[in-house]
Amino acid sequence: MERRLFIKTLAASLLLPSALPAQAKQTGRWLNLKRPQSSEVLSVVYKRNGVLDERAYRQICHVMRDVKADQASVIDVRLLDIMDGIRVALTQAGVLNPTFLVHSAFRTWQTNREVGGALRSYHMKGQAVDFHIPGVPTDVLFSWMKQVKFHEGVGMGFYGGTPNWMHLDSRDIGRTVIWEG
Ligand SMILES: [Zn+2]
Repeated sequence: MERRLFIKTLAASLLLPSALPAQAKQTGRWLNLKRPQSSEVLSVVYKRNGVLDERAYRQICHVMRDVKADQASVIDVRLLDIMDGIRVALTQAGVLNPTFLVHSAFRTWQTNREVGGALRSYHMKGQAVDFHIPGVPTDVLFSWMKQVKFHEGVGMGFYGGTPNWMHLDSRDIGRTVIWEG
């Protein structure tokens, strides 16, 4: 499909009521993750009927570690659920097997300082992820998330670059912060 048409179709289908996260099925939650820095790939069901699968969860925490420092931490499950909501919405919009290409997730204090992260970055708390989804223009995803108020209580930032990517964090329920970097 021609790129412009694809983007239009995607943007339109994301706005259908059926694509809203409230409609997401509750039976299973899973994520497809890729880390370019470590060449790791993980596709895993981490929740079944609302119950966390500890083994799968540990695998996710490992893949979302600070690759540079080779240090893992606890990743906020709410962040994972938000990511799963994105996956569900994109799947319903016709994207095949959406995969999060994770540029950065948990960061040690030192790595965060080296990359110029915010002083109290949510990355250091395991509550943030920088990503893009191959095949999905980040600007389309970002404006859709803004438009449908995808989740309350998130921080989300859009960054240019090639490819465009975005920051997402699960800060506080009831507090949403949106920026474009
Ligand atoms: Zn970030």
